[in-house]
Formats: sequence, structure tokens, C-alpha cells
Amino acid sequence: MNKPVNANQEFQSDFLSVTEARNAISTLIQDIQLQAKRSDAIEKLPLKQCLGRILANDILSPINVPATDNSAMDGFAFNSKDLKTDREQIHLRIVGTVYAGQTSVPPTQASECIKIMTGAMMPPDCDTVIPQEFTQLSDEGLITFAKHTVRAGENRRLRGEDLQADKPAIQQGRILKASDIGLAASLGIAELGVYQRIKVAILSSGDELCDMSEPLVPGKIYDSNRFSLHACLSRLGFEIIDCGIVRDTPEDLRHAFTLASQKADVIISSGGVSVGEADFTKQIMDELGEVGFWKIAMRPGRPMAFGSLKPISPKTSPTVFFGLPGNPVAVMVTFYQFVRNALLQLNGALKPEIPLVLVQSAEAIRKKSGRTEFQRGVLFRDSEGKLFVKSTGSQGAGILRSMSEANCFMILHHDQGNIAPGDWVDVEIFDGLL
Ligand code: AMP
Ligand code: MG
Repeated sequence: MNKPVNANQEFQSDFLSVTEARNAISTLIQDIQLQAKRSDAIEKLPLKQCLGRILANDILSPINVPATDNSAMDGFAFNSKDLKTDREQIHLRIVGTVYAGQTSVPPTQASECIKIMTGAMMPPDCDTVIPQEFTQLSDEGLITFAKHTVRAGENRRLRGEDLQADKPAIQQGRILKASDIGLAASLGIAELGVYQRIKVAILSSGDELCDMSEPLVPGKIYDSNRFSLHACLSRLGFEIIDCGIVRDTPEDLRHAFTLASQKADVIISSGGVSVGEADFTKQIMDELGEVGFWKIAMRPGRPMAFGSLKPISPKTSPTVFFGLPGNPVAVMVTFYQFVRNALLQLNGALKPEIPLVLVQSAEAIRKKSGRTEFQRGVLFRDSEGKLFVKSTGSQGAGILRSMSEANCFMILHHDQGNIAPGDWVDVEIFDGLL
């Protein structure tokens, strides 16, 4: 009898799925976060220095925002009782003007109104604003407008509608965005408590690597991974310790990892974790801590090491270790798919995940089920304005240009097979606004 051939055999045996790898990382990070008592490591910073930092306590609003009812439009404020009439046209007498910032406001009687500017405090007897463009002004200081152009209560912002006094305005664990900085300022809060930045050590391992300061001789390549990692980490606001290039010898690796783990909360290395290459790294990791050498069912970025190194004085908590693959694209993919969230989580951020967006593929893509692929994609609009994604072309794990030209990852999930033109795929957009 013919047994069915399983095309994905290669990916099933000892491979971890992306989800399993993420879960394992998250569990260890939670554990270490508790041991490291990161919740004690808080600093107070002036508001302007808080962008991108992680908020350490809930911010309760000390005031109502807005503090009083105010006008949402330039127009005329009046009492909506004046709308309760059979007549189609409403006539109101203007008895004053109120500007934004004015702290006292004149009263009104029935059939009276007050000219009001956007943001100005509502007069005490008024609950509705008719925008100026819907009114006609007559010579005798009267305005006229059609009754159906406004309903009771319209164009008025209510006291506390943005934020209510004593309710949480910004939650602990938030990665502070530009709007959060503005929000805190609107509450008169000059400083925020944020978690101290974690320290991340980076190093590159490989005998073929050449530092930019040295001449590039045949057989050597420039070390680019340390620079992309440095940039990825800077963008996230972590403190970076650059440990340079480390040669593939047990002595050099032991020395570099020992030094790095004395100083840093996390070590990220690249290179030297693939089968046949990892022997020395494995030997050193067995001495220094507990590290798993994984094969992950993904492309690019199959081999990855992850675990913790024992605390070395002066530190009292373990150091998290990520051994990323050496290929320049695989480094960035594994960084964004595993390391980014883990670092933010370790630093106290809640919900650091990046949202996925479903977009139609403009082209056919070959994809084997049984592994997750992170293709480099370009989001674009066709001539009719419809959004599509296409690949940047050659997807080799060493082709860094594919990352540079892309504006998103196309995430082809574990169980997904070939993609036909028009099929929906998840994308993760590179650029964030705030
Ligand atoms: P490895 O994972 O060490 O087997 O490396 C895989 C590929 O990535 C090899 O072609 C390496 O030369 C390349 N590579 C490793 N480390 C770096 C680095 N720091 N910068 C640029 N390319 C690297
Ligand atoms: Mg290598």
C-alpha cells in the first residue's frame, strides 16, 4: 500500500512553532521580571523626556477635562427651550459675546442668545449652540435660523467628557505616545514615573566578521547585524551596551558573555547558533546558564537560542539571552517577532503587540504549510485606490535590501498554504505615527 507522502515532514518533528516559541519566551520573561523586581526600578522624568518610556503607575485625572461645559463651534449659545415652538424660524436677540479664556459669562433670558467662540465657557442658562454659518444677522441685533438646523444640546462639549476627575487617564504599562504626553500636560502633570530602561548588550559572533575600522580582505564581511540591532533597540528606547565582535573560540565567547551578563539585563548575540556552528556557544551556555537551542518552523530565522544566564555579581537576577541567527534579514525578523515584545514586557509594558492588518495579495506566493513565513512586503494602492500587498522580490535571508525596500512584513501563518492573487494575508506595518 502506498503511504501518503507528507511534504512537510521536515518541519514537524523537533521544530517549535512560532507560537510555541513565543509562549516559552513569554513565560521565562514573566518569571525573570518578578525576580528582577523591575517594579522597584522607577524614575521620575519631566514630561518632555517621557516619549516612548513605559508608565510605572496609573495616572488619575486630578481635574475634569474640560473643566466646564464649553462651545464646540463659533456661533450663538441659547437655551433649547427656545426651540419648543410651532414656528419654523427662530429669532433670538444677541445680548453679549463670550470668547475662549473669558472667566465670567453674562446670563440670558428667554429668546436671547450670546455670541460664542469655540472653547468659550457656556453661559449658565444655555445648553445649545447654533453654528454661525446657519444664522442670518439682522440690523436690530437679532439672529434668525431654521429650527431644523440644530437640536437641543448640540455643539456643546460637556464638563468631564474627555476625562473625569479621579478616573484613570493613562494606564500603568502604557508605552507613552505623543498623545499621552499631551494628555498628561492637559491635566497639569509635569512629571511622570516611568520604569528605568533595561540594559541590553549586543554582540556579533563569527570569524568572518570585520569591523568597519579594519580593511575588508577577501573572505571577510562587514558586521552589519550589530548596527541593525543597535538601531532597532535605539528606536525602542533601551539602554544599549555594544560588546563588539566576538571570535568563535570558547575563551572569547566565555569572556564576552560573562562580561555582558555582569552589566546587562539582556544579551542579544547574532550568528553561531545554526547546526554545526553552535558547538562552542552551546558549551559556554551550559557553563553559564540554561539555554535552549531551538529550531523554529519559520522562514527566515530557523535556528535561535533562548534562555537565561545565572546571576553574576553585582547582579542578582538572571540575564536573558537571545542568540539570533546570523543572516542579516533573519536577525531583524527574529528581533521583531520574538525579541521586541519580550524586551518591552521585561521592561514593564502591557500589551506591546503590534496589530496585524488583513490585506489582499497582489500576486501568487508559494508557501509550504507547517511553517510561518515572514516575507518582506510593499503595501500599495492600485489605480482604483484599492490597497494591496506585494513581495519585495527575492526573499533570501541574507538580502538586507529586501528589508530596506519593504514597508511591511507579510505574515504567512503556520497552516497557510500557497497564496493566490486576491487572497487575504496578514501584514504588520513598519511605520507607526505616534
Ligand atoms: P551563522 O548564523 O553564523 O551561520 O551566519 C549565517 C550567515 O550570516 C553567514 O553568511 C554569516 O556570514 C552572516 N552573518 C553572521 N553574522 C553576521 C553579522 N554580524 N553581520 C553580517 N552578516 C553576518
Ligand atoms: Mg557564524
